[in-house]
Amino acid sequence: MRFDIITIFPNIFDSYFNESILARAKEKKLVEIKIHNLRDWAEDKHKTVDDSPYGGGPGMVMRPDVIATAVAKVKSQPRRSKGGRGSDTKASEKTKVILFSPAGKKFTQKDAQRLSKYNQLILVCGRYEGIDRRAEKYIADEIFSIGDFVLSGGEIPAMAVVESVSRQIKGVLGKQESIEEKRYGIGVPAYTRPESVIIKGKKRAVPKVLVSGDHKKIEEWRKSQIGK
Ligand code: SAH
Repeated sequence: MRFDIITIFPNIFDSYFNESILARAKEKKLVEIKIHNLRDWAEDKHKTVDDSPYGGGPGMVMRPDVIATAVAKVKSQPRRSKGGRGSDTKASEKTKVILFSPAGKKFTQKDAQRLSKYNQLILVCGRYEGIDRRAEKYIADEIFSIGDFVLSGGEIPAMAVVESVSRQIKGVLGKQESIEEKRYGIGVPAYTRPESVIIKGKKRAVPKVLVSGDHKKIEEWRKSQIGK
């Protein structure tokens, strides 16, 4: 899977993507993450990527022409990493262009699973008052919100999508981690030592079933606790 992130703040991503699970996934060539500076595709000498809104109003809007050029150029770049699970299909058909907006469709775990089958995801990070509506309509395949709150840019949403999609690619998670998630689903309660702990003056013990050694009972209990 190749992720291409188009942003005006390319330095935001390095430290996060160079740690832990994603660093390992990159090393193993299961994912490739390319960060592109949108300004590289601005054509005027000031490298303008935004302009004031038609109809007036505060703030700036990101120009659709620069984004169109960036997306077209990134789409045509060659890829090195192995494809997604559906890599038998032509690469051009397995590319998706994703934009972010607080008014977009709520991004869920199901989307992460679905998108992990693509070969290339192009993620365009908005800033300022957002991206010109024509880019949303005619360039984006999907527009995602990561929650009902407003961030200053699409960089954190892009990181969230890269990480959650990568976790769905075979080999990215350790065997144990992926088994646990598949077996129980999301939100299974976890406990570790000490078996008893004082929190705010009260003794809090680990549920007895977990120290019973009865694996069948433990499994049943865990499933029954999801979301509680
Ligand atoms: N004024 C705009 C909000 C712009 S926020 C409006 O009313 O819709 C600036 C950029 O941050 C957006 O273009 C988007 O890329 C990103 N962003 C902010 N909050 C987000 C969220 N909850 N989910 C996804 N992207 C978000």
